[in-house]
Amino acid sequence: MNASEFIQQIKAVRQRADVLENHAKTSELLPAEILHDSLEELNTALEELRVAEEEIRQQNEELRNTRYALDVERQRYKELFDFAPDAYLVTNTEGKILEANRTATHLFKISQKYIQGKLLINFVPENQRRAFRSQLIRLQQIKQIQDWEIPMQTREHTKFDTAISVTTMCDREGNSKGWCWLIRDITARKQAEAQLQAIRNENLQLQEATRLKSQFLAVMSHELRTPMNAILGFSQLLLRHPYDQFPPQARSMVERILSSARRLLMLIEDILDFSKLEAGRLELNLEEFNLAELVTTSVQELYCLAQQKNLTINVYINLSDPQIINDSDRVRQILVNLLSNAIKFTDIGNVNVEVLEIQDRVMLIVKDTGIGISEADLKNIFQEFRQVNQCLTRKHGGTGLGLAIVDQLVRLMKGSVTVESKLGEGSTFRVELPRVVHSNH
Ligand code: ADP
Repeated sequence: MNASEFIQQIKAVRQRADVLENHAKTSELLPAEILHDSLEELNTALEELRVAEEEIRQQNEELRNTRYALDVERQRYKELFDFAPDAYLVTNTEGKILEANRTATHLFKISQKYIQGKLLINFVPENQRRAFRSQLIRLQQIKQIQDWEIPMQTREHTKFDTAISVTTMCDREGNSKGWCWLIRDITARKQAEAQLQAIRNENLQLQEATRLKSQFLAVMSHELRTPMNAILGFSQLLLRHPYDQFPPQARSMVERILSSARRLLMLIEDILDFSKLEAGRLELNLEEFNLAELVTTSVQELYCLAQQKNLTINVYINLSDPQIINDSDRVRQILVNLLSNAIKFTDIGNVNVEVLEIQDRVMLIVKDTGIGISEADLKNIFQEFRQVNQCLTRKHGGTGLGLAIVDQLVRLMKGSVTVESKLGEGSTFRVELPRVVHSNH
């Protein structure tokens, strides 16, 4: 029942009272009887009125409850709107701000009171305003824009980066009546992107520097090798002369020139190999050869060195088929590097070389009873230029490239190298290689 129906009801009661009044005036019945009838009728009418009134009261109660629920809901939405992580704004189609949430006022550093009525373009830096206006014109046609990145500014003109999404609000007839703006501050993201880009650039520069370094090393080593060969060649020629043709001590001087030149050449070879390996330019010369023979001759090459230190080298070869396919020079290089280290870092005891096979792979084991390597150093032992003890190394010589070359060569051959060692007790290096190595190019 609504208010006008209720009024109708009151009118009806009033009319009834009038009818009763007329009836009382004109009736021939006794006044007591008339009174009785009239009261009865009036009571009925009043009862109806009470029912109607109760109905209205209930409706009012319901209305109050609905309004309360509506207020609660509105408050909830207001809070959601206000405390949203992004700035929300409502503008009319001229871009005048009608509503702004709390985040928006924080972002633009302006109070709620002053932001309303301002043009949004005020918060766009001057050099961006033309672009902003043309986007607004575009917006009239396309109705919405997503993730439009544009710098904005606070009331005090402090700039920050934003990503904006805008949608058009329409009235019932479908005419645009304003826009809803979601403005996200992306300054932190932009800074992170810039940092990432800087790191990428730095990385590229580093890669380029590494490439140039490898190239430089390769060129330098090559250039050094040529005069070294002359020194080696001529000192060897000199030594062929009969003993008495040398002035006193000259022969031993030439011998020292020769041995120093040999050592220098080996170092140059190492640098050259390493720079080639690092640049991925080293190719394996694959061929079939006898691994047992190669091990025996390599050990013989270093036999003198071991003898000078009173060390024995024991060789154990356990191969059912010694033929393998690999680059024999490079396999020799691996073995010689490990073996010369074993001799270099062992003063008492012996060096054992063992060769065995495990299915389609072969294993070279070089074991010594030398100074050993601490657990902490074991992790870095295969890194280039890594030498465990600088003083010791100065005594023993070396570049710190030997094991790095071994590691890279073994990788190139699709094998693996591992080391086990205990300080003061010796070291064991194990190289595992496929019996048949395939070309890496
Ligand atoms: P270097 O030219 O110094 O020998 P390497 O790469 O061959 O370079 O070896 C790196 C370091 O690892 C050596 O300086 C040494 O400290 C340690 N090392 C290598 N082999 C052994 C070994 N058999 N016993 C003890 N230390 C070793």
